[in-house]
Amino acid sequence: MNATTESSDKENIKISFVKSNKGQYLLLLNDYLYKCNKKTNTKKYWQCISNGCTVYLHTDTNDKYLGGDVPEHDHESNPELVEVRQVRQKIKERALQEIIPISIIYEQETSKASISSTTLAILPTSHEIYPSVAKARQKVVPLLPNCCSFDIPDDYKHAIDGN
Ligand SMILES: [Zn+2]
Repeated sequence: MNATTESSDKENIKISFVKSNKGQYLLLLNDYLYKCNKKTNTKKYWQCISNGCTVYLHTDTNDKYLGGDVPEHDHESNPELVEVRQVRQKIKERALQEIIPISIIYEQETSKASISSTTLAILPTSHEIYPSVAKARQKVVPLLPNCCSFDIPDDYKHAIDGN
């Protein structure tokens, strides 16, 4: 029962958007995803993407939150969001442990049958995921020298010289 807080909190409500691979924007609020199912000249109507859930909200055409969200969701936050986080996490973890290209790890992790089509639609593409994963990987995997002429540490030189 948090209907009473709605008016005072409206200014503080942070909504964000997730772009699906199909180029569609989904609205994200409090770990719930909404899809736009109606647009007028002044408003956009967003409905929770969960099957059968009737929770909706509206924004103006500049995506500023206006209100809505009348009934409570009758379900936990969208599992697809949780799944997206898990898949991203998994890709990152594997990238740190395995030396195969990130695109292949991505391919393998996203071709699992257990992943829902909604998750795949909102999962960042391999290109989008690449920079952050590559960065994490660089921190733990030392870069290989670009060519064969790298400096031999002094310690080894001494050993070769017989000193
Ligand atoms: Zn819902």
